[in-house]
Amino acid sequence: MDLIGIYLKEALENPGCPVCNILQKYEKSEITTILYEHVNNPSVRDQFKESLGLCTYHAWKLKEIAYSDPLLGALGVAVIYDHMLSVYIESLEQGRRVKVSKCFLCRRAEEKERSIISGLSRRIEELLPVYKNSGAILCKKHYEMLKEELGRENPSYADKLTEIQIEKLSTIRERVERFIDKFDYRSTEAPTKKEAEAVVLAIESLKGLPLQINFGETPKKPGIRGGIFGSRA
Ligand SMILES: [Zn+2]
Ligand SMILES: [Zn+2]
Repeated sequence: MDLIGIYLKEALENPGCPVCNILQKYEKSEITTILYEHVNNPSVRDQFKESLGLCTYHAWKLKEIAYSDPLLGALGVAVIYDHMLSVYIESLEQGRRVKVSKCFLCRRAEEKERSIISGLSRRIEELLPVYKNSGAILCKKHYEMLKEELGRENPSYADKLTEIQIEKLSTIRERVERFIDKFDYRSTEAPTKKEAEAVVLAIESLKGLPLQINFGETPKKPGIRGGIFGSRA
């Protein structure tokens, strides 16, 4: 297996959604690198400026990572947001609206997400057995992305993926049900570690990890006729 394959295999061996997990690590390392090396880099500054200091999610993530690392602290955040405030104040003084484009960390995460999915798809023959036998569970979004990619590239594996996904989700559900049963007053046993973990995996399997790319999906808006109150027949 090539290096990317080994990297993906490792992610598939861990509990939770392998794609979300890689993206979460990637996000942290990108932000840490910016804070350590690029706070004063003019091209990185320009990227911050495009979105007036990232999207809301990444701005707070950057603050959280900086403040929780004793070697970083608030200085880098101060330098970046001093600059952003100057841009904002200038726009107010000139009486123009400041343009806010998509956050560059969101763009990078989307690119990374696509590359992980295509990486998994291209190595599916070797990686699917790893997935089948591990505690990993693709979240709904990443399962659907992989399924779609396989449907184009390798349809026979698309069906196998669905089979495995149903098996895995059923196992999680069984554990959640056992967890609930253990709260019955007649039960003499405490929930096991696996059962307790299954509750969290149930959320992760449906919603993915709390990453900005997973907040993007909005359900279809109701038709105009329904208005904000919905249709009242
Ligand atoms: Zn996911
Ligand atoms: Zn963002």
